[in-house]
Amino acid sequence: MLSASKTMTAAVLHGKEDVKIERVPVPDLAEGEVLIKVQVALTCGTDLKVYRRGYHARMIAPPALFGHELAGVIEKVGPGVRGFKPGMRVVALNSAPCGACFYCSKHQENLCEDLLFNNGAYAEYIRVPRRIVEKNMLEIPADVSLQEAAMTEPLACVLRGLQETGVEAGDSVAVLGAGPIGLMFIQVAKAMGCNVISVVKRDAQVSGAQQMGADDVVQLGKVPSPVEAVRLLSRGRRGVDVVIEAVGRPEAWQWAVDMVRKGGTVNFFGGCAAGTKVEIDTNLLHYSEITLKASFHHTPESVRLAFALIAARKVRPTEYITGEEPLSRLNEVLRHQMLHRNGDIKTAIIPGS
Ligand SMILES: [Zn+2]
Ligand SMILES: [Zn+2]
Repeated sequence: MLSASKTMTAAVLHGKEDVKIERVPVPDLAEGEVLIKVQVALTCGTDLKVYRRGYHARMIAPPALFGHELAGVIEKVGPGVRGFKPGMRVVALNSAPCGACFYCSKHQENLCEDLLFNNGAYAEYIRVPRRIVEKNMLEIPADVSLQEAAMTEPLACVLRGLQETGVEAGDSVAVLGAGPIGLMFIQVAKAMGCNVISVVKRDAQVSGAQQMGADDVVQLGKVPSPVEAVRLLSRGRRGVDVVIEAVGRPEAWQWAVDMVRKGGTVNFFGGCAAGTKVEIDTNLLHYSEITLKASFHHTPESVRLAFALIAARKVRPTEYITGEEPLSRLNEVLRHQMLHRNGDIKTAIIPGS
């Protein structure tokens, strides 16, 4: 056992825009648990949202260790752990489903009634609970870097979103938003053989979307209406087959419904602030047979698929990582990303540096 007096440096979320770098005890391990020495922790749009709001309804309540996209090396395993040993390079996901509730039995593990979340990636070490060790921790192949592997979580969410939307090769897909998630949607949809129209806000996002493979980029403010601009670019001006909303604003949800073609599908991937509402034209929905979908989080299956695509070099995960910073600068990094989301996609936080 690690002695209780042993401490580590970790980021602790105390509330709204209040993250402190502190010395905290290195977690003790119970049956089935694993301690990872974090080598890289990636910033994520969800973390930014949590930083801005001070909490996340489902994932984190302060004061709490913070951060959830990580890869590292196993430092120690608790009693009864099978298949993992110290020295192994692993990626541990931020959640695991119970496997026993109604939703798990329906293969909707992302909706699990007892989804167990784990935070604390912005730290020298992170304890991985038994359920995540058993269901959502994977050994990283030697030829895959830790930074690449750390992209498994967001990519798993994106893959599940595309799968749920029923996107097929040849489809025209509009992606609203060009944050890390929007860019990943562009890259994967393009790799699947879709024609991708990206709708972005900022100047720097235009080239970012193009680099990820967008066939056309519509920039807000440069066109009278994003809805009209997307329709003009679609075949026969009918609207696109699929719209992925990856912004998380009611206004963008509305645009999504207005730019999809008859019989098309919209996926509201971006979660809006609690309490927000959107008005939908019932006639448009009915007579145009528009399918509305929403996707949240990932499942063990989409996690494995994401991991396999990264290992097979089918996606280029490091293109999303635009800088490296030590843990001591986490506050500055989050503040900077919150104020100027121009160019910075994801920052790799290196706890040991
Ligand atoms: Zn994330
Ligand atoms: Zn469950």
